[in-house]
Amino acid sequence: MYRITTEMIDICRQQNILDIAMRLGIRVDRGKALCPFHDDHSPSLRFKYNRYKCFACGQSGDAIRLAQHVLSASFVDAVGWICNGSAAYLPPATFTYSSTAQQTYTHPDLSDYEYIFRQPVLTQTARTFLFEKRKISPQVVERQRISSNHTHIIIPYYNVDGTALLTIQWRYMGHDKHTPRFLFAKGCRPQMYNLPILAALQPTDPLYIAEGVTDCLAMMSRGHNAIAIPSATLLRPSDATTLLKRHKNIYMCPDNDMPGTNLYNQLKTMLPNITKIHLPQKYKDFGEMWAEVGS
Ligand SMILES: [Zn+2]
Repeated sequence: MYRITTEMIDICRQQNILDIAMRLGIRVDRGKALCPFHDDHSPSLRFKYNRYKCFACGQSGDAIRLAQHVLSASFVDAVGWICNGSAAYLPPATFTYSSTAQQTYTHPDLSDYEYIFRQPVLTQTARTFLFEKRKISPQVVERQRISSNHTHIIIPYYNVDGTALLTIQWRYMGHDKHTPRFLFAKGCRPQMYNLPILAALQPTDPLYIAEGVTDCLAMMSRGHNAIAIPSATLLRPSDATTLLKRHKNIYMCPDNDMPGTNLYNQLKTMLPNITKIHLPQKYKDFGEMWAEVGS
């Protein structure tokens, strides 16, 4: 179970209800819309003072109540859904993130953030980035419970049995050079992505190792069983080998750069079963190749 904070409820209340209505698929024209709660033929739903009221069926409330009713969601889930898709939303101050390897791990409890992945939001920016630019399969994105806001894709890292969040990764989609491209939940030990696939595989089933989550999603879109090492510099190779030693047919397509080559060489010493897939020189990674040739 997760909790919601008063800060999150405040964020919901500060939203323009018309934006929330639009995200919920309600078409508002000059403050009026067809009521989603009954068979409405002339717009009975009115928006005023950041609230809604239907003059036919009597339903009324604020943005949270509207999301609750349209999504058939609990109050907690509706708050999570609104916050998650809000560009204004940032995790509470107690939860900052880090993109560099840390010396100490505080192992924060991430159950408060599970709401993000219960009803994932895909903003238009995220759809364009994932589906059009990267050619990632919508089924893969849905299955992996990937969420987003207007600037970041938000990726959950689960444990092997899929019951607990080990870390959360933010992947920046914008072009600002000063914004880090990747962020991880602070205090969390770096993890491999898509660990639940390991539990589903037989030791002889082919397993692909990707460098980075977007490459992993590209491999999954290709139909491969894939896991990702988030970054060549973040994960301790020994952590990976402990989890992977059961698997006999491992393939890796390292990035065409020094960190990628080093990572492969390190893994190869510990996992002799690993086979290298050579990428054509003109592509820097699998994801780039998939974005060009994938379909
Ligand atoms: Zn109504």
